[in-house]
This record gives sequence, structure tokens and C-alpha cells, in this order.
Amino acid sequence: MKITFLGTAGGRILIMTQMRASGGWILEMDGETIHVDPGPGALVRAKQYGVDLRKLTAIAISHAHPDHYTDTEIIIESMTNGTRKKRGILLGNEHAIKGGSDYRQVVSPFHLRLLEKYRALEPGKMMKVGSIEITATPTKHREEKGIGFVFRGSKTLGYAGDGEYFAGMERHFEGCDYLILNVLRPRSANWPGHMNTAQAKELISKVRPKLVMIQHFGMLMVKAGPEKEAKWIEEQTGVRTIAATDGMNIDPEKALAYGLGKWASGKK
Ligand SMILES: [Zn+2]
Repeated sequence: MKITFLGTAGGRILIMTQMRASGGWILEMDGETIHVDPGPGALVRAKQYGVDLRKLTAIAISHAHPDHYTDTEIIIESMTNGTRKKRGILLGNEHAIKGGSDYRQVVSPFHLRLLEKYRALEPGKMMKVGSIEITATPTKHREEKGIGFVFRGSKTLGYAGDGEYFAGMERHFEGCDYLILNVLRPRSANWPGHMNTAQAKELISKVRPKLVMIQHFGMLMVKAGPEKEAKWIEEQTGVRTIAATDGMNIDPEKALAYGLGKWASGKK
């Protein structure tokens, strides 16, 4: 498994100013390459970090907030080799795929037709991409239909999407080897509908994965120092936790076995 973070910004100010990049992250596992939450600048960051988007086999959108989807259509054009080849799978929450009263469908009918398959997922529903089973998890977020994902293949990776911790959340991530959490704020600050470090600690202590990667940071988080917050989680839970950086490339298994220095590298 390999994960590439195209961006780690979460809060509006960080995204507006690109103090940190946005653009989501890419999972490579079991022969599939899945772009999760291709937000603003995903295309440009992929180029910057040497990611070939023509290799993508799927795109997954957790919810219809712009920081999670704005580059989707151009990423579909890349995945289909400039619209020349009908290929790839798109999965997303209901608002992203179909729209709703407060949200519009984020991908045009033209772009949907370029895909081999697309589907709206609600919590609890599963879709296969190759041999990987992707199950949607519920979130507690302002985008009320937002979802997270559990990717089950040779390893299991959970991604909680945007949202605050809620009682029983851990149930949905049972058995995950690794977790990616969107931790907008440090433990000293709270913002309803988003996770802070203290809530992340709560979830991690119950799921007990082998490794946690935190990302999607807001301004207060960056000021507090994501590395410090990650270290605090690690001390509190005993679970290896790292703060992702823009362009970071990580093989979680090797990182755990041989040390993060060699196997988790921020590039360029
Ligand atoms: Zn959101």
C-alpha cells in the first residue's frame, strides 16, 4: 500500500491562501489507484508531486463541500486519457453524485458518461473497485449526507471524512490497520461538525489501528503544530500517529517496520 497526500489543508483560510496545499490523497493498493477527495489544485499538485493521473482507476468523494471535489471533472478527464477512453469508477456521497436542495451534482452528465461506472453511496453500503471493498461510513458534519470510507483489500484503511467524533463511531472502523483522520483543530479548540485532536484521540484509542495519519488542518491546527498534536495523540494512545505533509508519500507497512524517515517522504 502506498498513500500520497496531494494536500493537507482543511480550513478555508489555509485553502484560500494555499498556505498548505489542497487536493486530497491517493491510495495505491492491490493494483488499484484511487484518488480520494480531489479538491482545489489536485491536478496541479499531482503534476508537482510526480503523480500520473492517467493511472487512476477510481475517484472517491466523501461529500459535496468544494475542498473535497472541485477538481473532479478534470481528474476524470485525466483518468480517461483526455476523454478518449471510457474507464474508471466514481463513487461519492449522495449530494456529490446526485445533488440536493443545498448542493448541486458536482460532476456533469458529460463527465459521468466517460466513466465505466459511478454510484452514490450511503453509510453502510459497499462498492467494489477491483478486489477492494469500499464501504461508506457515517459522519456528523454540516454536509449531512457526508460519508467516510473503509478500503478493505490486502490491508484495511479507514478514512473518517469530515466530521466530529460521535458515540459509536469506532464501530465503523473496526479492524482497520491504518486510519486517515481529518483533524481540523488542535485539542485546545473545538468546532462543531469537525474533529479536533482530543476527539481523534478518543476514536483512535477505541479503534487501535497500527498507524494513524492526520491531515486536513485548519489555521489553529497549523499554529499549534500538527506534529506536536500527533505526538500528543501517540503519547495518549500508544498508537503511532503522524501528521501528513504536502506531497508526503508513505508506505505504512514499511514506515512502521523501518522508520518513517525512509518510507514517509515529503517531496519537492
Ligand atoms: Zn466538509
